[in-house]
Amino acid sequence: MTQQFDAVVLGGGAAGLMCALEAGKRGRRVAVIERAERAGKKILISGGGRCNFTNIYCRPENFVSANPHFAKSALARYTPSDFIALLEKHRIPYHEKTLGQLFCDRSAHDIMDMLEGECRDAGVRLFVKASIQEVLRTTEFVVRAGEMEFRAPVLVVATGGLSIPKIGATGLGYDLARQFGLAICEPRPALVPFVFDDEDRARYCDLAGISAHVAVSCGNQRFLEKMLITHRGLSGPAMLQISSYWKPGQAVAIDLAPDSDVTAALREPKVPRNITAMRSALHNFLSNRFANRWLDLHAPAAWTNSGLAELERLVHEWVVIPAGTEGYAKAEVTGGGVDTDELSAKTMESRKVPGLFFIGEVVDVTGHLGGFNFQWAWASGASAGRAL
Ligand SMILES: Cc1cc2nc3c(=O)[nH]c(=O)nc-3n(C[C@H](O)[C@H](O)[C@H](O)COP(=O)(O)OP(=O)(O)OC[C@H]3O[C@@H](n4cnc5c(N)ncnc54)[C@H](O)[C@@H]3O)c2cc1C
Repeated sequence: MTQQFDAVVLGGGAAGLMCALEAGKRGRRVAVIERAERAGKKILISGGGRCNFTNIYCRPENFVSANPHFAKSALARYTPSDFIALLEKHRIPYHEKTLGQLFCDRSAHDIMDMLEGECRDAGVRLFVKASIQEVLRTTEFVVRAGEMEFRAPVLVVATGGLSIPKIGATGLGYDLARQFGLAICEPRPALVPFVFDDEDRARYCDLAGISAHVAVSCGNQRFLEKMLITHRGLSGPAMLQISSYWKPGQAVAIDLAPDSDVTAALREPKVPRNITAMRSALHNFLSNRFANRWLDLHAPAAWTNSGLAELERLVHEWVVIPAGTEGYAKAEVTGGGVDTDELSAKTMESRKVPGLFFIGEVVDVTGHLGGFNFQWAWASGASAGRAL
């Protein structure tokens, strides 16, 4: 059975639904084609079930992309305030948890009910359990899914990234970009825990569950947040954030006591200089077990001035070379994606293939942790939806 629309949106996630409802409100006949049995599964599991739906301090600097300027236009056209206004229209209660991160008071279902309700009111048709076999371009776009065929002059690809394949992530968006001749920045897991090499695993992993406030850096990027030791390596917000900038083989430098002089006490006259004194100094910054273990592995050969200076340096620059990451199974997002040089920053339309749009995570724009990825999904979705 063939059905004709003004626009077909592939993927009923955050970006696809936002795009569809904006286009529907403008009178366009829109179909959303979703592979899973329901739309918005990632929204429902996000933010521990409460969806960290935006960040009030959203700035272009919170996004990683080969072209750091690309996201500016869409982010300015659809801001956190716009999404908050939508929530308030639906009387959805929310709160700021920390650092500008907004969460639902009740549950992420509130966001899904809102998006589905808005889509319904805008006349959007949602087709779930639709497995896409083929996408062609004749005089218009043709999408074949099972027995159904959808035709439209406009195709919006909103199929997300590769993260969490067990809830239905697929590489369709990248395949379609290739099919239509668009360049791709190599996808990679991002916002993902690190895995230690065998030596570091043997040294630290029995401390799994211990956390510390650290500053972590890689290249020019630095994040001051919490680090968590896991059974396989390092996680926690600090590590997830820096992972988006990390490339295999690179070192990450961890400052275990940011902005502090840890050995100051030992340099005082008449204070004993030994491992016991140093342990108690480090206990001010790290949990006892972690401090003791770390010190056993990094204690200076002699407790001289230069030995203390070297130890102070190491505390602020503990260098770890991760063996890798936990991969897409644990990555909150996929870095890389459709090269932004291929797209209009205003509308997300392909420069080469008129009528073809890419929005959301499938594009080479990756937000920091803290609500920025949803803000990108809303903003890129709204920009495209208003251009259809
Ligand atoms: C566990 C977890 C928690 C997260 N928490 C947060 C958070 O609190 N705040 C935040 O900002 N970000 C969070 N994120 C990231 C955020 O969920 C994504 O960045 C965002 O959902 C991307 O939106 P999207 O619409 O581009 O892709 P998605 O939301 O992934 O939607 C893509 C849709 O396309 C469908 N699809 C895929 N392939 C096909 C196909 N072949 N045919 C048809 N349909 C297909 C998928 O089923 C899916 O419904 C979280 C991610 C994870 C994994």
